[in-house]
Parts: sequence; structure tokens; C-alpha cells
Amino acid sequence: MTSLWLDRAPRIETDEFEAGQQFDEVIVGAGITGLVAALLFSRAGRRVAVVEARRVGAVTTGNTTAKLSVLQGAHLQQVQAYSYRAIVKAYVEANLEGLAWMSRYADDQGIPIQFKDSVSYAATPEGVRTVNREYDIAKAVGLPVRRGTDVGLPFETHAAVVLPDQAQFDPMDVLATLAADVRSHGGKIFEDVRVSRAKAGDPAKVFTNKGQLLAQHVIVATGIPVLDRGLYFAKVKAGRSYAMSYRVDGALPPGMYMSVDSSLKRSVRTTPSADGDLLIIGGNGHTVGRDPSPKSHVRDLEEWTQQHWPGAVRTHAWSAQDYETPHKVPFVGWMPRGRGRIYLATGYDKWGMTNSVQCALTLASDILGGNTPWAKVLHRRITTPRAFAWGVGYNAGVAVEYAKGYAKALLRGLPDSPPDEGEGVVGRDGLLPTGMSTVNGVVCRVSAVCTHQHAVLSWNDQEHSWDCPAHGSRFGADGTLLEGPATRNLRLR
Ligand SMILES: Cc1cc2nc3c(=O)[nH]c(=O)nc-3n(C[C@H](O)[C@H](O)[C@H](O)COP(=O)(O)OP(=O)(O)OC[C@H]3O[C@@H](n4cnc5c(N)ncnc54)[C@H](O)[C@@H]3O)c2cc1C
Repeated sequence: MTSLWLDRAPRIETDEFEAGQQFDEVIVGAGITGLVAALLFSRAGRRVAVVEARRVGAVTTGNTTAKLSVLQGAHLQQVQAYSYRAIVKAYVEANLEGLAWMSRYADDQGIPIQFKDSVSYAATPEGVRTVNREYDIAKAVGLPVRRGTDVGLPFETHAAVVLPDQAQFDPMDVLATLAADVRSHGGKIFEDVRVSRAKAGDPAKVFTNKGQLLAQHVIVATGIPVLDRGLYFAKVKAGRSYAMSYRVDGALPPGMYMSVDSSLKRSVRTTPSADGDLLIIGGNGHTVGRDPSPKSHVRDLEEWTQQHWPGAVRTHAWSAQDYETPHKVPFVGWMPRGRGRIYLATGYDKWGMTNSVQCALTLASDILGGNTPWAKVLHRRITTPRAFAWGVGYNAGVAVEYAKGYAKALLRGLPDSPPDEGEGVVGRDGLLPTGMSTVNGVVCRVSAVCTHQHAVLSWNDQEHSWDCPAHGSRFGADGTLLEGPATRNLRLR
């Protein structure tokens, strides 16, 4: 499951980690959020280090579909439903700023970027009202949207709204340029260094598996925060979804597309490649760890693609996850009990290409001083009863997953023989929930209890991983931590 972007990524130079160094800002995570923030701080003359547990872009940014659009499917009406009108306006302004910053940056640095119409469309008659609502809200906040008729897709669309001059790029081109730019301003980038905790103080201490760093400020840009202060892990929902790239004979759609129908979520774009443009299809999201067969989603996307682009030849398939907040607007700013030294940015709900930039700009303005009117409005956001109820409902669902997971694991012993190739099972070994899997002929037995908050893990048959249905941590078949709020591997058993 290597993404097209990671497969063709340019080489990224990084630095040798040395414990005990002191920086102005230590930024945890080398995705788009961490690297844009690192560039803003290092351009301001600050001493910056980016600490990355895996590789630059390894998690969500290297596995995204990378459309930069302020029209985001039906997201504006979600923001309006779970917050209020002033927040929608500030959210749009923030994302326009994110798009403008990134477009300028790509232009200055010579990063290939394609400007396209962004289209939200109804794939079913039920989606028409949603499209109309999105059009009305977008219009009301001043976006130059128009209604679309023939939007260039090879199937019927029942309604569409179009926002011109949005953009798309290869996210690894962007990360590689950002990383080189940060280093050219004196910043350091450390890969394969995992942060386990941070202590607010003067200076703050950042604890990693390779020793400590000291910092004036720590910015947690790890997708879902890896620090538990503020309990953000319980305030966001982890949603995983799938993407594939294809070589297609014949014409490709000219724009970037997102369906609004909850029953048929599809993302469509193209990308230049050495031998002509490729088609990229995405969709079929679900809550991490709660789907009985992620593999079936990939199959379904493949069938859908073949139905509409017969004979399309798949080049890559990949998947990734992103985080949804109760009010559908990112969490950004200082973390509680961080004494003004520890900050976070998360919760882009699959619209992180522009939101990461607006969050990085917000953090730079919070820490270095600056006047960003939309950030002030977003910071003063009040939790509405509907957003509060969403959080309560979501956490009730998490509680059910704990109960189901333990009941299933403890009522069933592990089978005597290993599962079939590509399969994994959870059962009781003594009194301990244990996972057993077979991948490439290798049988592994690991603790099936998440090292973060102890929920029982479930097997992901597409990616051959153990996924946590509570807060979205994921581990390889051999127990190696892949992503999420956890900071430790699973124990082998
Ligand atoms: C399938 C899919 C398609 C998407 N398509 C779009 C799109 O078309 N347009 C759009 O705007 N958005 C899209 N998004 C959303 C967007 O990709 C994300 O919001 C964005 O990439 C998140 O970037 P990030 O830097 O916050 O996180 P990441 O890219 O995940 O970076 C976080 C980094 O932190 C590191 N890390 C984690 N824990 C630690 C630790 N303990 N110590 C050190 N480092 C750590 C990770 O290894 C990772 O590299 C999509 C998302 C998905 C899932």
C-alpha cells in the first residue's frame, strides 16, 4: 500500500539527532503542518527542530489526495451546523489564506501546481439539497461559486457547485521543498525519533526514544496529538479512507471533484506523471478500527472505477486517516496545562492542505505576535450544544467499542492453528487479549491491547495492521507502532 506520492518522492536530506540540544521551537511531526510551521519559525530567525517518528510525509500527508480547495465537499454546511455563521466566515477566510500562501510558495519555489475548478457534486438525487445548501452558504460568505451542469465526469451528476481557481499538487514535492527550505534557514529535521512526552517549563523538555531536547515552545503536529493533556484524543474522531491511481486511455476529467452524498463518497482528481496524466480516485471512509473488512472498501472503489473508466489500469493503492472535531473546525493553539509552551494543531477532517497552512500561520502569530483576525474569531469559538452532543455521542460509541472488544477477546480462546495468509484473529491467551496474524508466511503473536488507552485492537485485512477502534492508533502485524496517539509498540507474545 505505498502511495503514488511516496513511491516517486524526491530524496529528502535530514540531520543527525543529538540529545541535549536547545531550540526555540521543537515541532513534533514532519507532515505538512509541522514543516510549514517549521518554515515560518525558521524564516523569523528562530532555532527550529522538527522531530519525526518515522520519515517525512510517512503518515497522512504522504498518503493524501492533495487537493487544495476552499469548497470542501459539503464541509461548509457542517461547520455551520455544528458552530455558527461567524465561524463559517472565519473558516473560509482562514482556508483562503492557506490556499493563497501555498500557491505563492509553490510559485516562488518552482513546485508544480495545477489550478483547477473544484466541484462538489450530487451523485444521487438525495444529494441535491446538500449541493444547494453548500452553494447558498458559499455564496453568502462571498466565495465566487457557480452552479455546474456538465462538470466533465463520465456519469450523471444530479447537481453541482463549482469554485474556480483552486489547486492540486504532489504533496511529497511540497514536503521535500519545505524540508530543504527549513534546513537552508538553519532548522534541523530529525527522522526516526519518537517523542513520548513533553514537560512544560522554562525551557520545556521534550522526551524522545533517543534522549531529551529543550525548547521555548513545543508544537505537536502529529495528526492526533501524542500528548494526552487536554484529552484531545477523546475529542476527535479518526476516519480512515482509501485512494488509488490509474492509467486511463482517453479523456480525463478536467477538474477536482468531491461528492456530497453520505452513501457514495468519492474524490476524483488527476495528476501529471512522466508518461501522461493519471486518474486518482478516493473515498469509502470509515472510523478507524471499526470496519470488519477494510479490504472490501478497496474492492468497491476498484469496481466503481472500472464501471466509469473501463479498462483503467491501477498503478497504486493506498490509505490514510485524518481527524474530525466536534465543531468541524481544527483545534489549534496552546494545550491546557502547557503553561503557554505547548501547542497543537489537528482536526482537518480530510481538508488539511489548506487547514494545515492556516493553523501554522495561527501558531506563528500566537507565539511570535501578529494580527490575524480570522484566527482570533476561530480561537474564540464557543462549543454549541450540537457539537457537545456530537462529542458525547462519539465517546458513547468509544465505550461500546471497549465493551465489545473485551467481550469478544475474553470469550474466545486463540485458535490452535495460525490464521490464513493475510488474516488476523484476536482471542484470549490466559486472561490476556492476544492477536495472532499471518503475513507473508510469518506468524506473529502480539498483545491485542492498545498501548495508549487499552482498548482491544481489531485486524485490518487490507493493510495487515492492528487498528484501535477507540482513538485510531495503528500497529504493524509485528506490533510496531505506525500512527495515532500511542507512543509505544505492542508487546510480542
Ligand atoms: C485519504 C485522505 C485523502 C485526503 N485528501 C485531502 C485532500 O484532497 N485535500 C486536503 O486538503 N486534505 C486531504 N486530506 C487531509 C490531509 O491529508 C491531512 O489533513 C494532512 O495531511 C495532515 O497533515 P499533518 O501534518 O497534520 O499530519 P501527518 O501528515 O500525519 O504528519 C504527522 C507526523 O507526525 C509524526 N508523528 C506522530 N507521532 C509522533 C511522535 N510521537 N513523535 C514524532 N513524530 C510523530 C508522524 O509520523 C507524521 O509524519 C486527506 C486525508 C486522507 C486520509
